[in-house]
Amino acid sequence: MRQVPRVTRPRERRYGVQSGLSSRCGHPLTVKLLVREVPVNNCIYCRSELPSVVPAEHVIPQGFGTFKPDLTLNCVCSDCNGYFGSKLEWPMRNESIEGMLRLHFGLEGTVGGVRTRGVTPVIGEGEYWKGARTTVRTDKNGKERTDVLPQVGARRGPSDPFEWCLEQDLSVAFAERFPKGSEFRIVGGETPADLERLVQKLKEMCPTFVYGGEMNAPFAGDGRVMLHVEHQNSRTVVRCLCKIAFNYMALTCGQQFSLSQSFDELRSFIRNDSGEDESRAFVKHKPILAHEIVYGDRRTDGHILAIDCRPSDRVVEVQIALFNSFPYRIPMCTDYPGHRFMKAHHFDTQTWEVSEMRVAIAGPNFDPASLG
Ligand SMILES: [Zn+2]
Repeated sequence: MRQVPRVTRPRERRYGVQSGLSSRCGHPLTVKLLVREVPVNNCIYCRSELPSVVPAEHVIPQGFGTFKPDLTLNCVCSDCNGYFGSKLEWPMRNESIEGMLRLHFGLEGTVGGVRTRGVTPVIGEGEYWKGARTTVRTDKNGKERTDVLPQVGARRGPSDPFEWCLEQDLSVAFAERFPKGSEFRIVGGETPADLERLVQKLKEMCPTFVYGGEMNAPFAGDGRVMLHVEHQNSRTVVRCLCKIAFNYMALTCGQQFSLSQSFDELRSFIRNDSGEDESRAFVKHKPILAHEIVYGDRRTDGHILAIDCRPSDRVVEVQIALFNSFPYRIPMCTDYPGHRFMKAHHFDTQTWEVSEMRVAIAGPNFDPASLG
């Protein structure tokens, strides 16, 4: 009887899967199924199938500048694009240190309002003003200004620092902590009516308060005052930083690469707010630019993005420093099987142009003179 080759098919048909085939003489033979890998056109965040036209997803959120060329992706669906705009980028603008730095570059916005979270700018100098809460804002013409919020400062004795309490938080409980003889300061507000209102409120809360006169503003002759800024990255800000990193990976490595399941955990953290946030973004102790590490000088106030795919330790890592301020290291995956790949871009915040940077591996024979 003629032997018929027996073909066993895997239960699930996958691309590039090998099937076992017995040859006539009984020796196993392996052949590859001729299935072509067809690129899929799915959203890199939610994997939904993309229509022919999708809104442009900006690699750097537009709130952090509009650059030439405009680096955008066309592999993010409109649902994800809209979600990121309102749920990640808007909070990042208002509640992060990077969001505050953007105001120095003429980008419109306000940071440090009454109900602010994440970032708190306070006056950093002057004996009587130090610690008072402020709002920093830049108007649509790019003009920046700092306002002191209406608030009361109190201290028990001349050697104590002032404790500050915003107008709406002023209560009997606050006033009672400062016995007779304590010193109170009222600051902020824009008009004499604001001051009068605060004085009345303080008198109600604290009957021992006696009005003692006005103080000079802490602003120097040039109208400037040093601010001290306390900030802490919220989970939302970390997710937004990871989103920028993910976008940059999609820009430099492509849509298919970004759809790999190696990035599913990070994808889900960004899009679905799931999983831990502790090991997502690390603040580096050194700048990203080699020149700055070697010579200790500052080369730019622009954004820096860099990607490093390292097969030696199987990681893909993106580095980000918005306004070249806090440099973050963001691990994208830990099972990278591909080849070594590096790329970096500089987003100049003076010319608003983007350029690709030269990237080199600084090994043991690295010559700083090569930096130019
Ligand atoms: Zn999507």
